[in-house]
Amino acid sequence: MPEALKKASPEATRKTGRPFALDPLFTPLTTLPGIGPRNGKLLEKLVGGPKLLDVLWHKPTDIVDRRLRPAVKDAPSGHIATFTLTVEKHTPSTRRHIPYRVRCKDETGPLDLVFFNAHKDYIEKHLPVGATVIVSGRVDHYQGRAQIVHPDAIGSIEEIDEIAAVEPVYPMTQGLTTKPLRKAVLAALDKAPALPEWQEAAWLKKNNWPTWQEALHTLHHPPGLNGISPEHPARMRLAYDELLANQLTLALVRHHSRRQSGRSLEGDGKLRAALLKAIPFNLTGAQERSLKEIYADMKDPTRMLRLLQGDVGSGKTVVAALSMLNAVECGTQAALMAPTEILARQHAESLKPWLEAAGVRHVVLTGRDKGKAREVLLQQIANGAAQIVIGTHALFQEGVEFADLGLAVIDEQHRFGVHQRLQLSSKSKATDVLVMTATPIPRTLALTAYGDMDVSRLDEKPPGRKPIKTLLLSQDKAEDLVESLFKQTKTGERVYWVCPLVEESEALDLAAATERYEILQARFGDRVGLIHGRLKPDEKDDVMRKFASGELSALVATTVIEVGVNVPEATIMVIEHAERFGLAQLHQLRGRVGRGGAKSYCFLVYASPLSETAKERLSTMRETEDGFLIAEKDLKLRGSGEILGTRQSGLVQFRLADLAFHGELLAAARDDARLIIEKDVELQSVRGNALRHLLYLFERDQAIAYLRSG
Ligand code: ADP
Ligand code: MG
Repeated sequence: MPEALKKASPEATRKTGRPFALDPLFTPLTTLPGIGPRNGKLLEKLVGGPKLLDVLWHKPTDIVDRRLRPAVKDAPSGHIATFTLTVEKHTPSTRRHIPYRVRCKDETGPLDLVFFNAHKDYIEKHLPVGATVIVSGRVDHYQGRAQIVHPDAIGSIEEIDEIAAVEPVYPMTQGLTTKPLRKAVLAALDKAPALPEWQEAAWLKKNNWPTWQEALHTLHHPPGLNGISPEHPARMRLAYDELLANQLTLALVRHHSRRQSGRSLEGDGKLRAALLKAIPFNLTGAQERSLKEIYADMKDPTRMLRLLQGDVGSGKTVVAALSMLNAVECGTQAALMAPTEILARQHAESLKPWLEAAGVRHVVLTGRDKGKAREVLLQQIANGAAQIVIGTHALFQEGVEFADLGLAVIDEQHRFGVHQRLQLSSKSKATDVLVMTATPIPRTLALTAYGDMDVSRLDEKPPGRKPIKTLLLSQDKAEDLVESLFKQTKTGERVYWVCPLVEESEALDLAAATERYEILQARFGDRVGLIHGRLKPDEKDDVMRKFASGELSALVATTVIEVGVNVPEATIMVIEHAERFGLAQLHQLRGRVGRGGAKSYCFLVYASPLSETAKERLSTMRETEDGFLIAEKDLKLRGSGEILGTRQSGLVQFRLADLAFHGELLAAARDDARLIIEKDVELQSVRGNALRHLLYLFERDQAIAYLRSG
């Protein structure tokens, strides 16, 4: 489309629906001056994306303040300052280790510029004798005389405002230098368009927030130390934009799935009674309460979208089973989806006796069922012969047809994103949805991942659980540990030995785990197994089966066992390089033990030196088993900049918002989103149109898909 036409219809959109105004922000980084294919790759890695917007979102983390402009005689040692100087004399280096000195002065006294391994040409060109120059750098005093060793900036008198300023400092990556990054940022800022305002004027005014364009400008021109604080108005505004995009997307999803009318499911209770008779325990109060909430939602004619939150071992499976039976009692089908093959099979295993006791026909469907066998299963699902279907997420995303799916239970373990939830709700018409998650998520985080989904909490563990004793152990004691574990397992106890993620590289992961496996093999012989992500599903199952049956006493694992495998005889959990794991993940891993009646142990093996946050994480683990407490602590610690845990947890990651600081904005964004949905669910108003820009900016295209499909 010609330039003029674009201007003529600012709201014009093309097939993808993305407003034209956003185009410059989505151009590749290599269109920026000084960015070619090679450093473009580095830049992309550094800023976390290939487009211009990504570099704009690369936040400075510090500043260098060059605004101090003292006279030479008042120059404070150890401080960064900027001087206006006259060049007097060059004293080139005569020998190695003797620096090149350039004698300068102002009207109050002399100051030397000192260069080791100097580039003579460079110095002569930029500091000609007699010239007046602007020089900035850290001042010190040598034999009573002021000097600057390797000035950070040298420029002409015209450049004074540019040099004597606040300079942002960015997180960097090896191979890339500050200069091209800064140049790219400034060029990107130039291309950042003014966009229609999607925030309410009154809200902006109340908070004293700038426009989006101004906020970006300020982000990269921090006015001082306060400019890099997450509480600076510019940063608050950008954070709020991101949170609003997140909350609006979730609200749209929720609105949409609610809007499709559900149906009332209220069974006669016969199957559930049979199950309850078959289980050897009484439900906990928390289980009873959650079930009451779920049954009420199912009875309600709108669609259920409920989150069942419960720590590992809190007994979610039986809650899922009873909910599914309620659906089956009504003559509909129910499905349980797990994030992995192992877990799907394990669910099937534990549900089997219960479902058989209730006389319910169920099938298991995973990627391993192929050909004729798969055809038969698909047919049973399609004609309703299978009343309950247990499988993996992936299968339900492909074309599995149900006769009549009344309830879908998603066991997500943090791996099931908004995106998949969208696919699910677009697939099944009136299906009630129950999402189960094993990590107790702090309220704020739950909001970002689920919006204001209804939540049931299993905050009470089944009785009879013994506490898990958690011990910290330094790496050099690891070999002694192998020895004592070996003795321990002679009485039938079983050990998990988890090796950490190395730099997020699967290959290195595997190398570390394999090495540990070989060390254990020397002691355990063929009673130790190895499980990792590269094994084929049936190989994994095979190893797990052997471990569960006791054929193996020890299981060395990469983090694949994170996903909820249940072996009640496993009483010892060793986590190697525990300092590299996030709190949530440590908690999840520890939850693999302590599932039977026997006393359990968790050894957190760490390598020194420990960072402050790593220390805090490990001692938190030693002090408590309370998942909700750990989750709150996790959020606080992660807020201080450690992203390892976040990335592994699979929770929503924000570029601009930091929930440790912006938690309150999140609640505001949720309320804002709710109002928008009430007033203008199609986003047709002036603000609605602007909000479309916001959704595209954060690539919430899925949300827009709803708007377009109506
Ligand atoms: P989750 O899936 O929440 O991690 P599970 O559903 O696997 O936990 O339950 C863990 C174990 O506790 C299972 O062996 C289960 O049979 C048992 N269990 C569940 N509820 C109770 C209860 N109310 N009393 C005693 N044991 C229970
Ligand atoms: Mg479970």
